[in-house]
Amino acid sequence: MNSHCAWIGLGSNLDDPRRHVELALEELDRLPLTRRLGASHCYVSRPHGPRDQPDFINAVALLQTRLSPLALLDQLQALEQRHRRVRARRWGPRTLDLDLLLFDDSVMSLPRLSVPHPELTHRAFVVMPLLELAPALSLPDGSRLAELAQTLETDGLAALLPTI
Ligand code: ATP
Ligand code: CA
Ligand code: CA
Repeated sequence: MNSHCAWIGLGSNLDDPRRHVELALEELDRLPLTRRLGASHCYVSRPHGPRDQPDFINAVALLQTRLSPLALLDQLQALEQRHRRVRARRWGPRTLDLDLLLFDDSVMSLPRLSVPHPELTHRAFVVMPLLELAPALSLPDGSRLAELAQTLETDGLAALLPTI
């Protein structure tokens, strides 16, 4: 089985969000056939979508995995469930959100999975931590993330100092 690079976006804004994100970063390293090669700092960001909810903690992780994209999505969703995520409303508050941002240079549009994540290029809270980990990263269409970042609104986004 081939090994792949998968970039994961993490987010939480409920119930000690930083703890959920930091715990999930450890748990990603323990997924089957997977190890974590890197993690960004945690960032604080204002909520997108409904504003009447707490700020988010976001981070990005780089995984090396032998799982297929759908098998990895299954694992990410199971991890969300272990953090007792309840889906109440779209873009509403959550204990843990794990988005598959990029999977090698794959482009796919399946009922359960779109890669690259369709909102990736519009979200500073995803692009900035991605850039921190991989300043030279390009998307499957060849566009450079660093150039894209210059077009994004970064107000309200701040990297947090490590806790340890
Ligand atoms: P957004 O996708 O805009 O960030 P969200 O993360 O709040 O919103 P969810 O409720 O977590 O949305 O996910 C809705 C569905 O999106 C999931 O059931 C999943 O099957 C699907 N999905 C499609 N592409 C992806 C992807 N790249 N990563 C994670 N989930 C995805
Ligand atoms: Ca999301
Ligand atoms: Ca999601």
